[in-house]
Amino acid sequence: MSAAETRQFQTEVRQLLDLMIHSLYSNKEIFLRELISNASDANDKIRFEALANDALYEGDSELKIRIEFDKEARTVTVRDNGIGMSRDEVIANIGTIAKSGTKEFFQSLTGDQAKDAHLIGQFGVGFYSAFIVADKVTLETRRAGEAKGVRWESAGDGEYTLEEIERAEHGAAVTLHLREGEDDFLDHWRLSSIVRKFSDHVTWPIEMLKPETPKFGEEEESEATKDAETVPEWEKVNSASAIWTRSKSELSDEEYKEFYKHVAHDFEDPLSWTHARLEGRVEYSVLLYIPKKAPFDLWDRDRKHGVKLYVRRVFIMETTEELFPRYMRFVRGVVDSADLQLNVSREILQQSPTVDAIKKGAVSKVFSHLEELAKNEPEKYAEFWKAFGSVLKEGVIEDFANKERIAKLCRFASTHTGESEQTVSLADYVERMKESQKKIYYITGETHTACLASPHLEIFRKKGIEVLLLSDRVDEWLSTHLNEFDGKPLQSITKGELDLSELEGEESEAEKEAEKQAEEAIKPVAEKLKGALGESVKEVRVSHRLVDSPACLVSEEFDMSASMERLLKEAGQ
Ligand code: ADP
Ligand code: MG
Repeated sequence: MSAAETRQFQTEVRQLLDLMIHSLYSNKEIFLRELISNASDANDKIRFEALANDALYEGDSELKIRIEFDKEARTVTVRDNGIGMSRDEVIANIGTIAKSGTKEFFQSLTGDQAKDAHLIGQFGVGFYSAFIVADKVTLETRRAGEAKGVRWESAGDGEYTLEEIERAEHGAAVTLHLREGEDDFLDHWRLSSIVRKFSDHVTWPIEMLKPETPKFGEEEESEATKDAETVPEWEKVNSASAIWTRSKSELSDEEYKEFYKHVAHDFEDPLSWTHARLEGRVEYSVLLYIPKKAPFDLWDRDRKHGVKLYVRRVFIMETTEELFPRYMRFVRGVVDSADLQLNVSREILQQSPTVDAIKKGAVSKVFSHLEELAKNEPEKYAEFWKAFGSVLKEGVIEDFANKERIAKLCRFASTHTGESEQTVSLADYVERMKESQKKIYYITGETHTACLASPHLEIFRKKGIEVLLLSDRVDEWLSTHLNEFDGKPLQSITKGELDLSELEGEESEAEKEAEKQAEEAIKPVAEKLKGALGESVKEVRVSHRLVDSPACLVSEEFDMSASMERLLKEAGQ
């Protein structure tokens, strides 16, 4: 056996550990949820890999999670017989943060403990949460199918050791050497109630030794002697039910919320959820959640977590774009179907008509859930929109079939409120349109303030016509794809000839006469200007669109708008 080798943590890991210990102390019991969650994922993985290669089980296929504690040694151990990790995997998964969004996370830290605790929660606490209660953590593991195991050990102080070990079982065991003052975790009742509180619906049995049994450790060997008094007995302490297979009426909000934290790797409660069994040509269940906040890797194409796909309660894979379009990448939860093969692969998923049917139904379920929220719980919908509105908007561009549905869900800032919050729906806008108004007017800009300051708005203000103020990055594209709503064309107020004659009725004859005279009077000035500006402009036009400003730049109807030009330049085009 090789000697232990000492290695350094990546700098970020050190920083994260420090923060975690200090900011999350008041939530310290979450370490158990995190370790159970990892054990559960590891069991899921071996079960999936073994579908193609039964030998991986090495005869040990009764997958479970066990929690043990040792009062004298002052340790708590979480053990699984899942896939385990090779030496390289331990280095990659435990010694570094390979997560996307890491940079953004560290940049957004404030130094304020309460705020940072939330940020860490959003980032994902994971394995390192063990150090909240432990001053030394030992991980022993062997990847199923490999000959050698590995022991990883660290005091969370910047370095860790690695050592090759013999290990009969596949899987992993994480042992926490508790910090001074954390002895209350060395208690059956305490641990089992945390399990029930946080991990009740983990689908694998979570077992603990029955409290009355004296000591554990040699249960396997003592089997033969059958001494009833000393044989420790394991009992399942969670309900281990696949929550999505149960009926809604049996489940409490608390159970839904805890399952969310497990399945979404989130630290906070979800914003809302929808749970349904869909029957038809294809049969499947969905339990889908909308998180409260955007995760740090929302904009990353390689993000890890999405919606978990199960086939008859067997975990198949974490899906990202196989089941939901990119613009629904905020959705978390579970889809379980009885109509897919257990050995379904990513490739098959991409071309299966069954998957298409499931995808269509699941996406529609998310839409109807959002529609209900918008209608019945507008405050929640506003929260959703704030976190994910700019993502959902991408759907207008990417999903032609659902464009209408998405457009209805969109919210915008508008001159009606003047606020930067996006609260105005297109339907609201249409309802407020002037009687003779035929178009939905909007302006795009870099920022909300820039939109509001635009001289193009002057005439609209004067006439009391509402203008949508679009300043999200995606809005330029959105406006080129959303040409009409409810039969009313969308019109940029910075493009082309602004024909407000449809609003004639609102203007007196006298006003029109005055405009005409003003136009004549100023024509020579315009001609001079064109002479001076030469090639840099196409045309200098006398216009009635301004009220207070002397001049403004206007694009041709089919030209790119100024902000689109900037965007493309930024993108290097
Ligand atoms: P996450 O679970 O969100 O990926 P963690 O910090 O909890 O983040 O775990 C990091 C990685 O370490 C996991 O993705 C997994 O690859 C590996 N890992 C952790 N615990 C186990 C375990 N019990 N068995 C196998 N792999 C594990
Ligand atoms: Mg984890």
